[in-house]
Amino acid sequence: MNEYMEIFMQSFLGTADWTWNSITFQVPWYTNYFWGLVVISLAVWGLEIAFPWRKSQGLIRKDFWLDGFYMFFNFFVFAIVISGVYSLLKKALSESGISMESLTLMNLSGLKMVWQLLIFFVILDFVQWFTHVLLHRYPLLWQFHKVHHSVAEMGFAAHLRYHWMENIFYKPLKTLGVMLLGGFEPEQAYIVHFTAITIGHLNHANIKLTYGPLKYLFNNPVMHLWHHAYHLPEGHTNGINYGISLSLWDYIFRTASIPNPEDGEIKLGFPGIEEFPQSFGKQFLHGFGGKARK
Ligand SMILES: [Zn+2]
Ligand SMILES: [Zn+2]
Repeated sequence: MNEYMEIFMQSFLGTADWTWNSITFQVPWYTNYFWGLVVISLAVWGLEIAFPWRKSQGLIRKDFWLDGFYMFFNFFVFAIVISGVYSLLKKALSESGISMESLTLMNLSGLKMVWQLLIFFVILDFVQWFTHVLLHRYPLLWQFHKVHHSVAEMGFAAHLRYHWMENIFYKPLKTLGVMLLGGFEPEQAYIVHFTAITIGHLNHANIKLTYGPLKYLFNNPVMHLWHHAYHLPEGHTNGINYGISLSLWDYIFRTASIPNPEDGEIKLGFPGIEEFPQSFGKQFLHGFGGKARK
């Protein structure tokens, strides 16, 4: 086995192992992404059932199981395969002479943990907001992002329904964000990840929640429902409310818009959604057909 194959396999098997150990409770509970995702999902689902915004929406809404499958596919199955590819890329990067240190803008290691986590959270969120804007702005990227926007009824599980290519788009900018921090990922980064999953689940949940004045800081279900709106408000051709965890960036860059915060029944999707593939298999391959496919 040559060196590269070995690097790939090590990473692949390492991630597969870690995932299996998580499922079987062999990792510290606070780093258990598998059961963490399950617990957060059940909690937000419980809130949806107790306080539904759209009363007519079923508990098991349209595409519930498809979205549930996406959740685990994107989080685990895909992560295992791609971890091997990333370790190869890292190796290539270090061989080309680019070091983490050469890109460092900020060194966080001297700060208190709470500040480290906060800065890490804010920078990562901004990078993801920016990536999300790109997904809407470039037709080629939009073809992949349409999978996320093909949700017809919103519920928590829609959060992680997205094309596997999105993992690939988000990762380089996220890695760059981490590199600007000197390659630094706080030891307690799992707090940031669990916070982001919870906010993301809530953003897609069938709950009318805006967090009062904090809506200018945090993304919320009402704001994100409008991100999924079929009819965009005038003057916004590509999209609105690109926020991931924070809504702040949309207010700063004037991409925030909530035409009617009371209306939870707006039509979701995009022109052409009627012909969009409905099955996982077809969505998996969507976006590679060139311009012929809308
Ligand atoms: Zn979007
Ligand atoms: Zn969404």
